[in-house]
Amino acid sequence: MRWSKTFIPTLKEDPQDAEAASHKLMVRAGLIRRLSSGAYIYLPAGLKSLKKAESIVREEMGRSAAVELLMPSLQPPELWKRTGRYDDIGEVMIKYTDRHGKEVALGPTHEEVVTDLVSREVRSYKDLPLTLYQIQTKFRDEVRPRFGVVRSCEFLMKDAYSFDVDAESMERSYKTMYDAYCRIFDRCGLSYLPVEADPGLMGGTVSHEFMVPTDIGEDRIVVCPSCGYAASTEVAAVKASAAAGQSTDPKSPEEVRTPGASTVQDVSAFLKVKPSDLIKTLIYVADGEAVAVLIRGDHEANDAKIKRHLGARSLELANEKKVEEVTGGAMGFSGPVGLSLRIVADNAVRNMAHAVTGANEKDKHLRNVDPGKDFSVKEWIDARVITAEDPCPKCGSGIELKYAIEVGHTFKLGTKYTEPLNAMFLDDNGKQRPIIMGCYGIGVNRILASLIETSHDADGIIWSRALAPYEAVVIPAKKEDEKISREAERVYAELAQAGVDVILDDRDKSAGVKFKDADLVGFPFQVIIGKKGMETGSVEVKTRSAAKPEFVKKENLLGTMKGDVSPPQNKL
Ligand SMILES: [Zn+2]
Repeated sequence: MRWSKTFIPTLKEDPQDAEAASHKLMVRAGLIRRLSSGAYIYLPAGLKSLKKAESIVREEMGRSAAVELLMPSLQPPELWKRTGRYDDIGEVMIKYTDRHGKEVALGPTHEEVVTDLVSREVRSYKDLPLTLYQIQTKFRDEVRPRFGVVRSCEFLMKDAYSFDVDAESMERSYKTMYDAYCRIFDRCGLSYLPVEADPGLMGGTVSHEFMVPTDIGEDRIVVCPSCGYAASTEVAAVKASAAAGQSTDPKSPEEVRTPGASTVQDVSAFLKVKPSDLIKTLIYVADGEAVAVLIRGDHEANDAKIKRHLGARSLELANEKKVEEVTGGAMGFSGPVGLSLRIVADNAVRNMAHAVTGANEKDKHLRNVDPGKDFSVKEWIDARVITAEDPCPKCGSGIELKYAIEVGHTFKLGTKYTEPLNAMFLDDNGKQRPIIMGCYGIGVNRILASLIETSHDADGIIWSRALAPYEAVVIPAKKEDEKISREAERVYAELAQAGVDVILDDRDKSAGVKFKDADLVGFPFQVIIGKKGMETGSVEVKTRSAAKPEFVKKENLLGTMKGDVSPPQNKL
């Protein structure tokens, strides 16, 4: 490819609407352009990288005996009603009514569609196991599209679905996909980490997220440097510390006025106590039933853990009206003393003494409240998000909390979809049984964005060789010099012939502009053709991840490019 014939519109300035480094660089390097909120155009160089990521995914799916198909983005919502997910997913699903008055959905995912297909086509245990996948555009009505292609309303997903006769066979399919995911992200050059995760809306029991740690990540993970434990904070268990025993100085609850102070910060500032001396009483509605959840003031409630404990399908915080109805007091002033509701409390609350709680009356709190003495709890559970001060759930050592971008997710679904959609098979005894399912997603756009987010410098992107739009750029240092120009053409042809994905910067621009653009777009190799090299029968080669260019004998050029030039990655 000649640069003059392609379309890589690079920019000197960062786009104004971009916060994340990857977003800024993808725009500046001429890979993407914004069309509207959450919708991006892939320009030719960006699309080339995207296609490279796609083909790595395809190759590894193929090696795992997964077969590709293509399902429509347009989906009948009836299928979602049959699995009960129509209500669960809510506004996230983009829907419209067609000219016949029928509701149509734009698929945010395809479990229903693929299970319906399998229910109609698979009859016998002889048809199983089967793993189907597609690479298809998905749609989500995001509340807040962010960070360019990291969180967009339209995005490219690889979604795979495994179908097995029993749990044991499903374990094998799951492991095969898990291993394929590791190979895919390794080959792409990502610094990723598989972590234990919460299945959430997908359902099922076990799941793993493939995370790329970066400060712009919207997910939080916990990592133990000692034993290698890694999990999403949604599932990381918090060990309950030993009971502190009852206070030796029993006091009676005392009512205090706290006008207008309804948050932990306001109340602790007003009463001059630490947030950890407060008990937060959160009123939730779980499948229509109100439940009070008690959490220490400085801790964060973990909805995933609470939901699992309650076995609830839906869980949300109660609105103001509901809080008043069930506690008799205003929102922000709820407390466990005298409350006639189901109470679930986090283990850390058990060790509190002389705590401050809401008094179930507007502008009033209670001091000197002791669990056990002033209110009783039957359900002590792990209901909070792990903090950096908590020990590792596995080995007890210190842990680290990190932010991360999720690039892949694998789920063991069981029969969550196959039962309601009647995807059955005849086993070898002629008995009808539901198929056991797994599902596996990869955000293809996120592979690019997370690589750039974790691999760039002040000058631009540092691509892995596997995903770079071109592996090498040939830059004639002085285009108007005919000899240099001819030599550049020769080197370009030689590299192309040898199978290197190469671009010749034949633009009518200064060498300075070309060097800057080469660094910005981030080609792994820059081959610079200049006077000095030509006099000595050599070319100047700069690898993007190295600091300085070096002169290489012409005949050794291809040999130089054989080495590994993956960007230096943090060992995780
Ligand atoms: Zn550990």
